Amino acid sequence: MERSFDCLIVGAGVIGLSHALAAARHGLRPAVVDRDASAAGASVRNFGFITVTGQPAGLTWRRARRARDVWAEVAPLAGITILQRGLLVCARRHEALHCLEEFAAGPMGEDCRLLRGGSLAYPLSSDLTGALHSPHELRVDSREAIPRLTTWLEQERRVAFHPRVAVRAVEPGRVETSAGRFTAEMIVVCPGPDLVTLFPEELARREVTLCKLHMLRIASPGWSIPAPVMSDLSLLHYDGYADCASLPALRARLAAEQGPWLAEGIQLVAVQNSDGSLVVGESRHYGAAPDPSQPREVDDLILSELSAVLDIERPQVVERWTGVFPSGPDIAFVEAPMQGVRLAMVTSGTGASTGFAIGEETIADLLGLAAPPYALDPGA
Ligand SMILES: Cc1cc2nc3c(=O)[nH]c(=O)nc-3n(C[C@H](O)[C@H](O)[C@H](O)COP(=O)(O)OP(=O)(O)OC[C@H]3O[C@@H](n4cnc5c(N)ncnc54)[C@H](O)[C@@H]3O)c2cc1C
Repeated sequence: MERSFDCLIVGAGVIGLSHALAAARHGLRPAVVDRDASAAGASVRNFGFITVTGQPAGLTWRRARRARDVWAEVAPLAGITILQRGLLVCARRHEALHCLEEFAAGPMGEDCRLLRGGSLAYPLSSDLTGALHSPHELRVDSREAIPRLTTWLEQERRVAFHPRVAVRAVEPGRVETSAGRFTAEMIVVCPGPDLVTLFPEELARREVTLCKLHMLRIASPGWSIPAPVMSDLSLLHYDGYADCASLPALRARLAAEQGPWLAEGIQLVAVQNSDGSLVVGESRHYGAAPDPSQPREVDDLILSELSAVLDIERPQVVERWTGVFPSGPDIAFVEAPMQGVRLAMVTSGTGASTGFAIGEETIADLLGLAAPPYALDPGA
């Protein structure tokens, strides 16, 4: 077994794969080790929604645009289908529509379009006051995309994969694993929600905890949604809308009318698979030891929000699952705990949307190169 590489990456989730791609693009010979046989964490449990509109202004928004462009470039090469494009943020209340109007008029609203209630097409509910259409997003099915990206990196970009290898310790230039020692000048640790095996002090200092989400798949309703869908609750959830002057009024109305949804951290995301089924979520529960169960009441609240936005009175649930991602006060961070070593973590549940960009920044930094242009743009 080859044991010496230019760059060794711990973790085969989307953040690890993003670093592997960036390293390979610089002509390096990277290796990825993961203790699982294949990625089984958040990276294959998510919506596969590469979200731009709604990301916080500044670096995260610019990272999302860059990562979206990398997905668009890599998907056809790796045989990954782009299933949907764009985003419809549906307004149930006038306060939500006012927020969307303000957002559309601001710098991040570029190319977004406001749709009034009467102009919304079936299957969107006729009770909606309007919606914002954003053209910036892409959506893939992560259960297909992550394995295909892995295979493509291995076969076409000379990335070596070592599954079922647990990394126990990292030192400058080497890692100790369940399969012995590997050496590499550069090491990037992307451990997702494992907060105890590697660099636990750094993660504790950054106050990283876990966030658990409920997810559902609904049988095809027999129609297509024009784009992934969100609703009023999402405007509280995504910091990109934080500066909208109408947000406090929306928050007050949601607190009065949808307290149980807010208590469970629910916002609506609905995306559609090629067989017509809808992947729907999500709730958010935070803590070091997430409850392993999936209480039905939480799912029912998610489904009622879905029915308020789309013409689907009795959604037929065909699958339920939960996912966990690391969460903390930072949106994401890349830290240098040792010479030649980086610890990379997205702590806001946006890794599919920003990972490719973060990978480019980390590898440039390890090589002593300037940061990519989008990361340096101070004006945006
Ligand atoms: C339900 C859900 C829905 C989401 N929806 C979206 C979405 O639509 N869009 C979006 O942008 N983001 C979304 N997210 C967030 C996104 O999925 C995550 O930010 C992203 O997947 C994190 O990727 P990762 O590679 O850091 O972690 P993971 O996918 O968890 O991978 C980490 C890997 O590291 C391995 N590992 C850890 N420690 C070791 C060790 N010591 N040795 C060997 N291997 C190790 C693990 O086995 C694992 O395979 C969602 C998350 C969830 C849970």
